Amino acid sequence: MLPDKFESPNTILKCLQTMILDALKNSGANPDDITDVLLTHLHFDHTGGSTVYENGKLLPAFKNAKYYVQEKNFKWGMNPSGRDKGSYIKDNFEPIAKENLFSFNNEDNLIFDDEIELYPVHGHTYSQQLIKISDGSTTLFYCGDLFPTASHIPLPYIMGYDLQPLITLHEKEAVLKKAVDESWYLFFEHDPVTAFAKVEATPKGFKAGEKFASF
Ligand SMILES: [Zn+2]
Repeated sequence: MLPDKFESPNTILKCLQTMILDALKNSGANPDDITDVLLTHLHFDHTGGSTVYENGKLLPAFKNAKYYVQEKNFKWGMNPSGRDKGSYIKDNFEPIAKENLFSFNNEDNLIFDDEIELYPVHGHTYSQQLIKISDGSTTLFYCGDLFPTASHIPLPYIMGYDLQPLITLHEKEAVLKKAVDESWYLFFEHDPVTAFAKVEATPKGFKAGEKFASF
């Protein structure tokens, strides 16, 4: 299973294709082995690398995989607003739809398997799905763009890019309370230093607790 992971393919697709393929090779896998790709949302920096050029044609990079995304996010990405259309680059996801490799989730369909649950949020964009991975004792929460870095843990630190910042505020608070109460590890997709961290509640608000640079 791959969670979303990539950058834009439009300018550097071939470079990223190589990076992804190298990463898979180093882990002993190849693209045809991938069966499930969980996309938090369809912004270019979360879908780039999902498609590849083959003989001048854009095709899904993982032809044996299902690509999971919230259906509402796909519909929004196909017809975004003037404010965010620059982030929805259709080359990253239209070829997947054309090959019928999308498996669309909705809010009634959030259990992926025994250990993985999807968690929809709507402040950053409509129907982003975050990923909660738990074996019953340890939980890793894949934060997508709700908490792009550990520096975004304090409640007021919200990206100016978010479509609905006050919704983000409430969504952050709900996740942080659970992270403290249930000792979750939060994983940060955009943090160049901190891969994941615990959260602490203090009299002055939430802050990052123990930080980890890598697994
Ligand atoms: Zn985003």
